[in-house]
Amino acid sequence: MAEHVRVGIVGLGTVGSGAYRLLVDSAAHVARHAGRPVVVERVVVRDPHRPRAVAVPPGLLTTDIGAILRDPSISVVALLVGGLEPARSMMVALLESGKDVVTANKALLAEYGPELFDLARRHGRSIAFEAAVAGGIPIVAAIGECLAANRIESIRGILNGTSNFILSRMEEEGADYTEVLRLAQAEGYAEADPAMDVDGTDATQKLALLTHLAFGTWVPWAQIPRRGIEGIDLDLMATARELGYRIRLLAIAARAPGAGGGGVALRVAPTLVRLGTPLAETRGAYNAVSIVGDAVGRMFFHGLGAGQMPTASAVVADIIDTVVGRAAITFRTTGMLETDAPAGRRLEAGMVERHLLRFLVADRPGVLARIAGSLGEQGISIASVIQHEADNATGAVPLVIMTHRSPAATVSAAVDAIDRTDVIRGRSLCLGVVDD
Ligand code: NAP
Repeated sequence: MAEHVRVGIVGLGTVGSGAYRLLVDSAAHVARHAGRPVVVERVVVRDPHRPRAVAVPPGLLTTDIGAILRDPSISVVALLVGGLEPARSMMVALLESGKDVVTANKALLAEYGPELFDLARRHGRSIAFEAAVAGGIPIVAAIGECLAANRIESIRGILNGTSNFILSRMEEEGADYTEVLRLAQAEGYAEADPAMDVDGTDATQKLALLTHLAFGTWVPWAQIPRRGIEGIDLDLMATARELGYRIRLLAIAARAPGAGGGGVALRVAPTLVRLGTPLAETRGAYNAVSIVGDAVGRMFFHGLGAGQMPTASAVVADIIDTVVGRAAITFRTTGMLETDAPAGRRLEAGMVERHLLRFLVADRPGVLARIAGSLGEQGISIASVIQHEADNATGAVPLVIMTHRSPAATVSAAVDAIDRTDVIRGRSLCLGVVDD
């Protein structure tokens, strides 16, 4: 067997400990796939006295990343520190000192991807990031390599385990959003500050990366239309169920039909998915991705999108890919995040689908006709209407309308106009509907 490869790990938290454990406990297995032994040479942490989930020999642990930067024998580094800084400076220093980098940090890549990837290219290095999207699900390799013969038509993903856990528990236990969020935090499924999970930021950052891989266009994540799950209540879930649907926080990228093939419609938002379809059956903290390729048809990936060992599985696979040279080839040939890639159009307006609208309206005659009239004026036709009894406390009546397929921008403009009328008594909701 060839001489061993020395790797560095920066960050020994949840993911770093899992990666270290796999590299040590499964060393023989890793060596077989890498074609040579892979040895952890250095581990960088912030606090060397913190108790660790793994026993690292004292000589390996350091707080000085310079120990890796100055060591030419370390060729591959797993950067497993979260957030933007110091992760960004660390990545820059690692690339400039000639290391290939593996990372799980989607926030970093979504924010600084183009400049970091350019820097890697200039230094002849690679960045592998399977663990940054959907944790253990090998979706980056699937799109970048295995489905390379396909023109990708659409991607729909449940990319945030915390929000899926919350939506599943709300439905299964009839508990409201705040109650389930508290439970998710107590059980360790949600962060102490879950804002980036529940407001859709995390899923949007992952969608930006998948969009680049699948459609070759780089869309800054903050420009992707995004809505979180905070507004979802049990009444809306019950209504969705009555109509044969379940609510999921869905990240969607789809080729926009009217855009001459270059456009991509993107959004992250709570969406109705039909009961019985795989996305609707993705429960708890699981992630899922459904992809349509022109040759392969529809494919479905399902698995744990976070957690120590599922994420470590992706990190170590990337280390192996880097050691054998596959990561460098993929990085070079796919023009990963090249800044001169053509910009795609990316308007939610490009999405044409059915919508579920919920208005809280005044309990008086003629209201339904007025709303139906406003929708009709915009060319939005109604498929069905559900109207329940008035809420005794507020006197408001929930009026639920399922539309036929209409452009999202037209529907949202119509809802805005209706919201400005005097028949509205509360916040209106508009959710896209996915039937297949
Ligand atoms: P974590 O448990 O908070 O661990 C972070 C590690 O980084 C800690 O070991 C910390 O050192 C180290 N660190 C922080 N600042 C440092 C500094 N200035 N110098 C040296 N070390 C420093 O985070 P995690 O959950 O493993 O997540 C790591 C990355 O993976 C994040 O980008 C996250 O988004 C991504 N990710 C996580 C999961 C998951 O399930 N957790 C899944 C997919 C992707 P100390 O231990 O000494 O404080």
